[in-house]
Amino acid sequence: MTSALALSSPVRYIKGVGPKRAALLSRLGVNRVDDLLFLIPRRYEDRRHLTPLRSTMAGGFATVLARVVGVERKRAQKGNLEIVTALITDGNSFAKAIWFNRKGIEKLLKPGCSVAFYGKVEVRYGWLQIANPEFEILEGEASPEEMGKIVPVYPSTEGLNQRWLRRKVREVLEQFLPSIEDPLPQSLLAKRNLLPLREALSGIHYPESEDHWRKSRTRLAYDELFLLQLGLAMRRKRYERDHKAPRLLWSGSLQRTFLKNLPFSLTSAQERVLGEIGSDVEKDVPMNRLLQGDVGSGKTLIAIASMLSAVDSGYQAALMAPTEVLARQHYIRVKETLGRMGIRCALLTSGFSQPEREARLKGIASGEVDVVIGTHALIQEDVTFFKLGLVVIDEQHRFGVLQRQTLTSKGLHPHVLVMTATPIPRTLAISVYGDLSVSVLDEFPPGRKDVTTRWVRRKELAKLYDFIRTEAMAGRQIYWVCPVIEESESQNVTSVLERYENLKETFADLRVGLMHGQLKSGDKDEVYEDFVGGKLDILVSTSVIEVGIDVPNATTMVIEDAHRFGLSQLHQLRGRVGRGSHKSYCFLLGEPSTPEGVERLKVLCATQSGFDIAESDLRLRGPGEICGTRQHGITDFRVADLLRDASLLEMAREDANELISLDPNLEEFPSLKAKLLASLGEGLSLALTG
Ligand code: ADP
Ligand code: MG
Repeated sequence: MTSALALSSPVRYIKGVGPKRAALLSRLGVNRVDDLLFLIPRRYEDRRHLTPLRSTMAGGFATVLARVVGVERKRAQKGNLEIVTALITDGNSFAKAIWFNRKGIEKLLKPGCSVAFYGKVEVRYGWLQIANPEFEILEGEASPEEMGKIVPVYPSTEGLNQRWLRRKVREVLEQFLPSIEDPLPQSLLAKRNLLPLREALSGIHYPESEDHWRKSRTRLAYDELFLLQLGLAMRRKRYERDHKAPRLLWSGSLQRTFLKNLPFSLTSAQERVLGEIGSDVEKDVPMNRLLQGDVGSGKTLIAIASMLSAVDSGYQAALMAPTEVLARQHYIRVKETLGRMGIRCALLTSGFSQPEREARLKGIASGEVDVVIGTHALIQEDVTFFKLGLVVIDEQHRFGVLQRQTLTSKGLHPHVLVMTATPIPRTLAISVYGDLSVSVLDEFPPGRKDVTTRWVRRKELAKLYDFIRTEAMAGRQIYWVCPVIEESESQNVTSVLERYENLKETFADLRVGLMHGQLKSGDKDEVYEDFVGGKLDILVSTSVIEVGIDVPNATTMVIEDAHRFGLSQLHQLRGRVGRGSHKSYCFLLGEPSTPEGVERLKVLCATQSGFDIAESDLRLRGPGEICGTRQHGITDFRVADLLRDASLLEMAREDANELISLDPNLEEFPSLKAKLLASLGEGLSLALTG
């Protein structure tokens, strides 16, 4: 078997790996032989110099090479704690290694055997002691892989020991390394001073020095980032080659009139972003732009001005919102402004009767309607446009790319502007939305006030009630958000129905409303309109009010069991207040049971900046979770880290764009192309041909 072994063979064909070990390896993500080459050590042990026990630093982590003198197992007087203690020596001094409740350790550690221990070294009762160390029994002193080197420690799983893993990786390295081809162009290695792939692979497993390791890691991280950027650049290039959008007129008369009549002047960020959009839509390359701007930064105006450019040019525009309530809200506002200018707007949601709907569809198809507003379902349905020139997707915080694919599959190639109020760290935006251009509204219109944010515990509920009463008496309105609708969904959480009953009772003199996703669409509108119209003091709701709802008179947001919401969701919810002239407050009610939960609440209390919050979110949750791209696997890097490798990512992006503009189809780099298609062809839906 071994003779026919290839890098692409399943690992079970490696000598000594049967189905059982293959299954264990698969848990580490190792399925093929070459996966072993990319099994990245989780740490290293420097066994080049033996640290004498005497000079290990108490309080620090250390690798200690020592011989076992004796092992003793005993049961603590209280409870069922079982303690195994090994007396160890390096020939000069003695120390104790100690484990709690770890069965069978005494059977492994025989007096006389040499062992590498890794753990925190402390001084206890006058002894040097390592508690619960990782350890590895060394095969005599002459084992070449394990001594006198910097030795890799791999991610482990029960049933696979380090020594075995090390030996298998080493065998694969020895057999295959000489034949590994470097897919990167030589010029790129030279330009970025990158190690050749072979050296990097050997260095990630057996670095000769810290510097060697750093260079090896950089090379492997670069590869991952570069491949993704290459894929994104290729996809964008193909799209632009195959699809033409209409050239639109910017600063036409409708747009100018609209901007001139605004009751305020534009922020300089708005001016800049409008300029960026303008130079896109004047070209026949379909715009694909992501507009990031925190809640309240003034995105709506950008959307309207952009749509007017389409109308000025004789085309239609569409605005899509994530919920029906929001679509209606947009419609009411847009119609008020645009209707006066003689522009014909239509709302298309599921709330209409069949004849009403058909009348609208007809208007859209015939071109009688200039601006269509609806939910994201708008483009999935049976809507035919007369001449669609521009689409705005509002509050889309997931993968705008997919939306464009839907448009394309219907034969439409309008300019697309995706707006999000969920700031995305730049590194993540580049990775996931790398084929979108990004605009940022990083400035607020004047007069915005901070929202005072406090974390409150359940025992402070009475005080919170007092506060709410005071606000309501002053004529202000309050949101109270709960994570679930009904109690049965989860224990230990207050449901929205329960809280609604409770608040109605507590505030018998106030008007309390209820909103959640399971209400009928008409009922939702009614509750919402009551709240907008000031007919309700308190609105108890699930997170359906997360996006876009704008009631300037609402000053207080209570988020119950706040730790159950994600960071960006909390930020969005808080963004519902602080929209008017009154001082606003956000109360995070909750008793988080995990450190991460605590961290989220602290982050929110500490900052109002969506970008800071996004950075923390990336740190706490990782990229796949945030962008919902997990299933695409495109940010599942083995080595690269979007927090740490930001500048490497910028380089990789620049290099990828350069290469693709010279050689859009990678004709001259077949092995690079093959690698790209193998790793990302599916995730990025890059077809094999074309
Ligand atoms: P978002 O980015 O959250 O969608 P909006 O577009 O709803 O923000 O704008 C928030 C509020 O700020 C609106 O009431 C809007 O009229 C106002 N606004 C937008 N731009 C400006 C500006 N340049 N100066 C003053 N107010 C502005
Ligand atoms: Mg908005």
